[in-house]
Amino acid sequence: MRGGCHCGAIRFKVTARPYWIGACYCVDCQKISGATHLVFAGFKEGQIELIQGTPKEYFSSTKVTRSFCNTCSSPFIFAYKTNPADVFIPTGVFDDSDTLTPQEHIFASEKPSWVKIGDNYPQNK
Ligand SMILES: [Zn+2]
Ligand SMILES: [Zn+2]
Repeated sequence: MRGGCHCGAIRFKVTARPYWIGACYCVDCQKISGATHLVFAGFKEGQIELIQGTPKEYFSSTKVTRSFCNTCSSPFIFAYKTNPADVFIPTGVFDDSDTLTPQEHIFASEKPSWVKIGDNYPQNK
């Protein structure tokens, strides 16, 4: 599967299906997306190939780094400093995200109260 940022500066591909997909409603994801949540797909570090571009990286909290396109600000990689082998990519930056269905909702307690989750997947926290 391939993907990239909105302006096209960053292009990447993944060589495997994600091992996990979850929708995150934490306040950091709300700030970063400018929306109610981000849906992340989890991969192992070696399964992601950067084809072009240089994402900018920063610490969004003491344990988490996030990267994004320095031109259009599309979010890209989320990784834990303590566990860099697990890498998470927002599903919306894939060229086709239709099959990337979340299997759980995380930090659901932080979502805006008007967001109603309409499926029966687990909601954590
Ligand atoms: Zn861009
Ligand atoms: Zn989050």
